Amino acid sequence: MIPYGRQDITRADIDAVIKVLTSDFLTQGPMVPHFEKSVASYVGVRYAIAVNSATSALHISCLALGLGSGDTLWTSPITFVASANCALYCGAKVDFIDIDPRTYNICPILLEKKLIEAEEKECLPKVIVAVHLCGQSCEMEKFWLLGQRFGFKIIEDASHAIGGKYKNYFIGNCRFSDITVFSFHPVKIITTAEGGMAVTNENAVAEKLALLRSHGITRDVSMMSHESDGPWYYQQIELGFNYRMTELQAALGVSQLKRLDSFVVRRHELAARYNELLKDFPIKTPWQNPDNYSGYHLYVIRLEVEKLSVSHRQIFELLREDEIGVNLHYIPVHTQPYYQNLGFRVGDFPEAERYYCEAISLPLYHGMTDAQQDTVRFALGRAIGL
Ligand SMILES: *Cc1c(COP(=O)(O)O)cnc(C)c1O
Repeated sequence: MIPYGRQDITRADIDAVIKVLTSDFLTQGPMVPHFEKSVASYVGVRYAIAVNSATSALHISCLALGLGSGDTLWTSPITFVASANCALYCGAKVDFIDIDPRTYNICPILLEKKLIEAEEKECLPKVIVAVHLCGQSCEMEKFWLLGQRFGFKIIEDASHAIGGKYKNYFIGNCRFSDITVFSFHPVKIITTAEGGMAVTNENAVAEKLALLRSHGITRDVSMMSHESDGPWYYQQIELGFNYRMTELQAALGVSQLKRLDSFVVRRHELAARYNELLKDFPIKTPWQNPDNYSGYHLYVIRLEVEKLSVSHRQIFELLREDEIGVNLHYIPVHTQPYYQNLGFRVGDFPEAERYYCEAISLPLYHGMTDAQQDTVRFALGRAIGL
């Protein structure tokens, strides 16, 4: 099977992990801060807080921005469920904004329209999670201006997008957001096995994130309610979690980060090659906004179903039978049974639902060969009936 995504592990990665394994610290040592500093300086942001997953990063980011019961978070229906679930963890409500039919990201025009309506009904969101689907940034400057006008905070879910750029700045610099979150799951662009990170330019937000990552405990006397009782002393000043990243994971992250540029370059080469190989197929290849340099986590095609005699599902099944590990990112979140129980209905976000009926993620990863890509093209042609 040619998978839709997979990690790229070298001898240097393995050696970096082994070195930590035989060192004094397996957790809470020097490697996590080293990884945080490396990512922060790469993307051009002040503070970075490494955690055990992007899901954890989204959860504590919502808390750090004050999201709680009575509040609402808005996000895209075309995302992994974690981008929405983080609101529910905090006791807040979720709503969605339909996607732009070209980028598949939240449509800024629909966002503005929904904000105007919400302002009239006095139910404005407190936080918006902007998901950079496939690695292509949302139109963040527009989101930021709307945030200023309507008073909401912004989290960028850049799980797909590390190494990508928006208006020539690395995604994660937080020029147009409060916090950006990355995922280091093995299918993503760089990996720490499991792992995630929240980055921000705001000192108070960074302090809160660091507390929430580790039980809400501090050893910093300036944050305590009274003087220290002695050298053993710590205080719990928030209700936090154990969301810490290990030293082994951070060592892998540091080693992977050194190859991030080359990972993204190779992903772009493969994407450009797909564009060329598939140009006469009855499909839409990924449209790119000229403001963006995508991280290219995913290469999603859309079938022009009206031109085809085989269904989306049949094409998908034929590709899987041919050992092509195609996937579908994503099932619209509002159609999941859990969200249906919260009151969402099929039909609520038509652009997202249309996308779901046409989209296929083709294999794309750093180690993919041109020959494997030719195999994908051949199988897709056959499945479509060319
Ligand atoms: C992968 C992913 C997540 C969750 O990442 P984990 O590190 O697995 O928790 C969240 N949002 C999006 C858009 C993702 O693709």
